[in-house]
Amino acid sequence: MLRKFLLQASIRRNFTASSSSFVFLRQCSSSSSSSSQIPNGHFVEHLEKSAESPPSATISVDRTALYNPPEHSHEPSAESVLVKNLKNIIKFRGGPITVSEYMEEVLTNPKAGYYINRDVFGADGDFITSPEVSQMFGEMIGVWAMCLWEQMGKPNKVNLVELGPGRGTLLADLLHGASKFKNFTDSLHIHMIECSPALQKLQYENLKCATEDGADENEKRINSTIAESPVSWHAMLEQVPTGLPTIIIAHEFFDALPLHQFQKASRGWCEKMVDVTENSSFRFVLSPQPTPATLYLMKRFKWAETEEIARLNHIEVCPKAIDLTQEISKRIAIDGGGALIIDYGVNGIVSNSLQAIRKHKFVDILDNPGSADLSAYVDFAAIRHSAEEVPGASVHGPMTQSQFLGSLGINFRVEALLDNCTEEQAEYLRTGYWRLVGEGEAPFWEGPDDQTPIGMGTRYLAMAIVNQKQGIPVPFQ
Ligand code: SAH
Repeated sequence: MLRKFLLQASIRRNFTASSSSFVFLRQCSSSSSSSSQIPNGHFVEHLEKSAESPPSATISVDRTALYNPPEHSHEPSAESVLVKNLKNIIKFRGGPITVSEYMEEVLTNPKAGYYINRDVFGADGDFITSPEVSQMFGEMIGVWAMCLWEQMGKPNKVNLVELGPGRGTLLADLLHGASKFKNFTDSLHIHMIECSPALQKLQYENLKCATEDGADENEKRINSTIAESPVSWHAMLEQVPTGLPTIIIAHEFFDALPLHQFQKASRGWCEKMVDVTENSSFRFVLSPQPTPATLYLMKRFKWAETEEIARLNHIEVCPKAIDLTQEISKRIAIDGGGALIIDYGVNGIVSNSLQAIRKHKFVDILDNPGSADLSAYVDFAAIRHSAEEVPGASVHGPMTQSQFLGSLGINFRVEALLDNCTEEQAEYLRTGYWRLVGEGEAPFWEGPDDQTPIGMGTRYLAMAIVNQKQGIPVPFQ
């Protein structure tokens, strides 16, 4: 079936990205990932409790330095809504916020978060992801999902959930590729977990959705006309109805989950926080005492070797990734099915990888928040340990993206597509293929004139969590 699928999917002809355009993969540069220094030259200041001033007998208030705003000023504000919001949170909290709170606000603040109002992908956006590089990526994920569905005993109804679908390209390619396999596509109930209204709209368009009236007057049903599968949108996985076997895909979703950073100081591990200076710019500081997230740091330490911890001066911990993994694993253990997580990361503790990317360039994490993407390496070892705590779920991998796509037959697929295309399309296909499976780190291009592409094949890892009863999923055998 796999081979048949590979040969049947048709070539996408509306090529949008130029193969020579400079695009930036959302992965860390080797220098920023391995370093335990504070990136971007920020000083980390230690927050000490200020010595209390002695009580004074009289109270006098000096108002001379108070700021009097000009009456009804029309001066445009230099600060974005998001920056004001962050400063207000810090002000009303009466102290700094965690890097996790900062990241969550910056990325997903419902009014002004980075993802909320715009399309951030591709050559004109800030970074590019594998589904946008080549149709073959979504098609291969389709092969994986169909094989899993077969292993599940070809159920009549399946929830197909995508976490953070971006433009919806991965699922559109998956459905196009699988459209000849009616039994599979007829079983699908698609659920998109997406916080961004702008991206939800793009996903609706790219899945070629149509809205029909439902049984009662107020009910609307949305179908993707690519494979006549019903589609619905949710803010969180827990809103997806339970009770059906479920296939979950998370591509470059975990890297966007807010994380906590800890740094070793003379008084022990301290949490890195974001504060505002007197001249109103953001800066990093260290917590004076243990913070609530220290519980997760302790949990992460339990999963690590003493030598691994001893080597580090800086550690990232992502409680949301740990909790989400457990939620996914429990659902799969109860309802059946499996999840595929693909992201850039490492199979161990992540030290200091948080980065900001704007217009395909690394920028300062604290610079103009909301105007650049924030993401970090995924700690696949933490995902494995979290899933293994759930009875009935089994974990496989990680393996490199190159091994994963290669074992699923991307070589056959590219050959089949190359048999039937123009020279321009052939170049696009070959470039896309090498980007997906080639080796390397960011920046994407190297060599004279930045013309040699470096791939996502080894920095990106794939991991599957499946219901134990199903045995080992392809291609992890
Ligand atoms: N998977 C896509 C997009 C990756 S970018 C691709 O590979 O091209 C991350 C995606 O997750 C975006 O669609 C973003 O809007 C969404 N997202 C980020 N944080 C989210 C959250 N907390 N809840 C729901 N969606 C989120």
